[in-house]
Amino acid sequence: MAGRDLAGFVLPREKLDARLVDEARKLGVDVWEGASYQSSKLTGDGRTCFFKEGVRVSSVETALLVGADGAYSRVRRDLGVGRQDDRYSSIAMRSYAKFSDPRRTPQEILPLRLDFGKRMLPGYGWVFPVSNEVVNLGVGLPVSVLREKSLNLHVLLKSYTADLRARGFSLEDPGGGSAHHLPHAGKIPPMSHPRAVLIGDAAATINPLSGEGIAYGMVAAEMLADTLGDWNGIDHAALRIGLQTFERRFRRRFRLHFASCTVANMMMGHEKWAETVIRAAARDRHVMSATTLMLFDERRMYVSTGLRILAHAARTR
Ligand SMILES: Cc1cc2nc3c(=O)[nH]c(=O)nc-3n(C[C@H](O)[C@H](O)[C@H](O)COP(=O)(O)OP(=O)(O)OC[C@H]3O[C@@H](n4cnc5c(N)ncnc54)[C@H](O)[C@@H]3O)c2cc1C
Repeated sequence: MAGRDLAGFVLPREKLDARLVDEARKLGVDVWEGASYQSSKLTGDGRTCFFKEGVRVSSVETALLVGADGAYSRVRRDLGVGRQDDRYSSIAMRSYAKFSDPRRTPQEILPLRLDFGKRMLPGYGWVFPVSNEVVNLGVGLPVSVLREKSLNLHVLLKSYTADLRARGFSLEDPGGGSAHHLPHAGKIPPMSHPRAVLIGDAAATINPLSGEGIAYGMVAAEMLADTLGDWNGIDHAALRIGLQTFERRFRRRFRLHFASCTVANMMMGHEKWAETVIRAAARDRHVMSATTLMLFDERRMYVSTGLRILAHAARTR
């Protein structure tokens, strides 16, 4: 199939997160596990942050608070940024299971698979190989579609599993996953705040089309560190300018990509259009790689791709 040569890497989250923590420790970061951020208040030259560990509450003085605490961010709430509107939020459930495709030889690498089933549009079911035997599989869709159609993620995951079996894949029952929100970049809230900044899911920087968010969070962290590289840790005005510069750079880098993915996500909500795109991607290498790079990279939508999709649609009428 077209686009086969686009390679990606899949790693269970537990392993990825453990590696990141190890790397941070190696760099001399003081890692404090088991404590949960409660609130913070501005002081003259920074913020006092309050943490809870069991029943013990402790405080930490910091010159800058980076809220990278995920989709249900307390830091975000604390900074007065409201919950992400359901229109800009998806919901997903992931599981791991043993999987095999009897049509493949043991040496063949399982491809990454996305299934845009009619009921879930513009959401999809996915199978990402973790090894040649174990896959990460799941389902995700916009919160609004889940509500409108009164769908249930557990039921969707079960029927996706049944559908894969009906297509000839051998798949053990996936373990019970839990549902998580994916606040997406259809609307990114203010990221920079007095002596604080939001990044990752806390800043709703998930790709609206794919639901991927790890790379954007990492880019934000790198860009933030790079922008504040010369900051002396004290000067308030320099910090404010630095945070604003970071936010501007981040938005500029991803503006067209996120806008394209938001539009594409809206279009994929229409069954006919979704069918047209999927058919065009299966037949046309250009459409497949453009779509894949929007889903998993920083690509924007180009008129030329749209025209190729329409040309395919006209030819197959
Ligand atoms: C089912 C599912 C599948 C997904 N699959 C993919 C995928 O394949 N690829 C991809 O790129 N993205 C995927 N995503 C999205 C991805 O998980 C997120 O975009 C990414 O994890 C965001 O990273 P983050 O660091 O901002 O937040 P998180 O990864 O959520 O990390 C937040 C951290 O903050 C901690 N925390 C939260 N509250 C507090 C508190 N009060 N005090 C102290 N610590 C706190 C949490 O324990 C956690 O360690 C998926 C999401 C879901 C729900």
